[in-house]
Amino acid sequence: MKEITRISPDELARQQIYIDQIAEENAEYFARTGRRRLAYTHTYGCQQNVSDGERIDGMLAQMGYGRAESVEEADFILYNTCAVREGAEDRVYGNAGALKHLKNRNKELILAIAGCMVQQKSVADKLYKSFPYIDLVMGTHVLHRFPELLFRVMKEKQRVYELPESEGVVAEGLPVLRSDSIHAWLPIMNGCDNFCSYCIVPHVRGRERSRRPGDILREASDIVAAGYKEITLLGQNVNSYGKNLEGAPGFPDLLRSICGLEGDFRVRFMTSHPKDATPELFKAMAESPKAARHLHLPVQAGSDQILKAMNRKYTAEAYLEKIHQVRELMPDIALTSDIIVGFPGETEEDFEKTLELVKTVGFDSLFMFIYSKRKGTPAERMDDPIPAEEKSRWFSRLVALQDEIMEAKHRAAVGRTVRVLVDGTDPKTGRLTGKDSGVLRVRIEEAPESLMGQFAQVKLTSASRHWVDGVLV
Ligand code: SF4
Repeated sequence: MKEITRISPDELARQQIYIDQIAEENAEYFARTGRRRLAYTHTYGCQQNVSDGERIDGMLAQMGYGRAESVEEADFILYNTCAVREGAEDRVYGNAGALKHLKNRNKELILAIAGCMVQQKSVADKLYKSFPYIDLVMGTHVLHRFPELLFRVMKEKQRVYELPESEGVVAEGLPVLRSDSIHAWLPIMNGCDNFCSYCIVPHVRGRERSRRPGDILREASDIVAAGYKEITLLGQNVNSYGKNLEGAPGFPDLLRSICGLEGDFRVRFMTSHPKDATPELFKAMAESPKAARHLHLPVQAGSDQILKAMNRKYTAEAYLEKIHQVRELMPDIALTSDIIVGFPGETEEDFEKTLELVKTVGFDSLFMFIYSKRKGTPAERMDDPIPAEEKSRWFSRLVALQDEIMEAKHRAAVGRTVRVLVDGTDPKTGRLTGKDSGVLRVRIEEAPESLMGQFAQVKLTSASRHWVDGVLV
């Protein structure tokens, strides 16, 4: 079993000293100026990055920073970056460029870039060299050392560039400032060992490493005690949870334990890799009333040739067999997935197989992407003869098919009564909205504001492509 680097309580206590020293410095600043220092943070990308961002916000709050609503009013600015899509990187370079005038205006302003994008050495070097006014560049494996790194910038007035070679660490007990009061993200593991040929994640998030079940259960019960109504368990591949833990507790057991906690809440999880999604998992979901009736199972393509080139380690037939297994146990399960269109070497015939699979499964929702080349991935070196216009044409055909499927599913839901977690408002109609145990987005007629953050029984009365409307029961 591979040894996981766990950050020791001593190291966390050492970081706490830096937090306290910065808090003291900020308190003195407040006493001196009557103004509280403010921090602006923005996170790009996936839920795991959002969860990291909540830990950065938690540490900043303990340091005595208030929240800035805009970069203009901030004393500290941090972009928590994503490396999965090219667009995300371009936006960070653009934003970093736009910060120059703020720094010229306020020499005390501290600028920081963190996250997956800067875990790639070539990118971190480019940022460090091209943006000399960026004070702190820190990779994903040193999140827990953020206080020390910021302290060095503040005290030693020097630029800090921290990107240690590492397979990744587990740091328990970092303060968390959650970005929502109804839904809570709960990371159970980090990293990925699958090395899909198009994906940069294993290169920037390191090897799979799981938190101990006790630590996760403690955080889950704190979340429930704090009144959250929905917990989403996070991992790049939650199904390989526990592989490197003593006694290898599996994900199905962890899910059962969390659903076994006292309280009225719902549990979701993402992301599952189809090769590791087992009948035990489906059974645990079916036997846990608090487990959402939703499985996100990214298939990526319908052609075995492309799945092989993607290094996905399953065939379309094996994937469909998993769908059959889960529907046998939970006929009402909502299924969602990810599809990449235009992977290098994909032919029209391959693409037709993707359309066929989408028709066969009938997903409740699909995240659809046109292939985006990532530097440093095996797919980057693959021949890619299909022109962009052709890929866009394929993409539009897939979107049109999925819209049809979704609209039909919405129409078929009319007449049902579902339990909705009310968590939003539709700007167009002003109606309260929420999601059922699957992924149905429901608008509720004449629902009182007091229902926000509560579960409500809703009878579905009409449907459209993007919404199902209903009345309170
Ligand atoms: S399973 Fe594949 S796509 Fe998902 S994070 Fe791991 S390498 Fe990337």
